[in-house]
Amino acid sequence: MMRRVLSLACAVLLLGAVPALAQNRQVAVTFDDLPYQAPDEVLCDPDAAMRLTQNFVDMLRPLDTMAAVFVNEGKVCEAQRPTLLPAILNVWLDAGLDLGNHTFTHINIHQNTVETYLADVDRGAEISRPLLAGRGRSLTYFRHPYLFAGETPEKKAAIAAGLAERGYTIAPVTIDNNDWMFAGVYRKAEAAGDEALKRRIGEAYVAHMTAVLDHWEPYSAEVTGGREPAQVLLLHANSLNQDWYPQIHALYLARGYRFIPLDEALRDPIYQHADSYVRAAGVSWLHRWTFTDGRPIRWEPEPPQWIRDIYEGRTSVPATD
Ligand SMILES: [Zn+2]
Repeated sequence: MMRRVLSLACAVLLLGAVPALAQNRQVAVTFDDLPYQAPDEVLCDPDAAMRLTQNFVDMLRPLDTMAAVFVNEGKVCEAQRPTLLPAILNVWLDAGLDLGNHTFTHINIHQNTVETYLADVDRGAEISRPLLAGRGRSLTYFRHPYLFAGETPEKKAAIAAGLAERGYTIAPVTIDNNDWMFAGVYRKAEAAGDEALKRRIGEAYVAHMTAVLDHWEPYSAEVTGGREPAQVLLLHANSLNQDWYPQIHALYLARGYRFIPLDEALRDPIYQHADSYVRAAGVSWLHRWTFTDGRPIRWEPEPPQWIRDIYEGRTSVPATD
């Protein structure tokens, strides 16, 4: 913990030492897959689920992240859902964070019809919508599971129309980064009680997020014709980010970012850009716009091979070098 606090202090000092930053950068942070990326039995245990939620929000609060979070209501088992899910979501809302729909089951559009997909969208709002209404707020944002927007032009158009009819604003992602893969490997290290491996994964995660920014910053400026747009960062609610998000936050501060709410980021005119990308793939909106403009896509860095090997089970944990 001390090391993390020192790193944050270093980042702030570094920021102070470089007063003339080249960029006035802005980022809206989003966390998907609420309540949490954890085994089902954890999400059905009210004490465990509430503890994970409270710890995550307590970690975020002093950082003033102003995040928007996206919920899969169906991740909480049915028997607990009517009481546990509102209690969990109230923790996030009490901390001033915005809340959006990520479908009920984290549905894969490629394997389902438009009708089934939109029914899953509707079911995904059953608890969130009245909860927000009780606070005089409305459910506005939708985030596509896997960032899949439809693999044929017809499906993509039908889903977009269905979401618009329901009053949803799509929450695009610019800074896509595979944090979920590091998180999956981190859970394996946690299950094995391997603290050294957890640290190694966390450090690799921060290095990866640095490489990812090195990629996206100039690439995003090409899309807008020279300036970096207000970015939207996709992360997930999980134990990796519980432990390591403060370092990611410090990384953004050191690079001159200001944290802004999602609605402010989406006022950047880039989010009105047409999107003619239709593939069975979940990609950053920066790729969709690059494709639409007829320029070549340059893919972002992938996680290191050893992370992919553990994630895909080619290397077992404890890992051997
Ligand atoms: Zn998701």
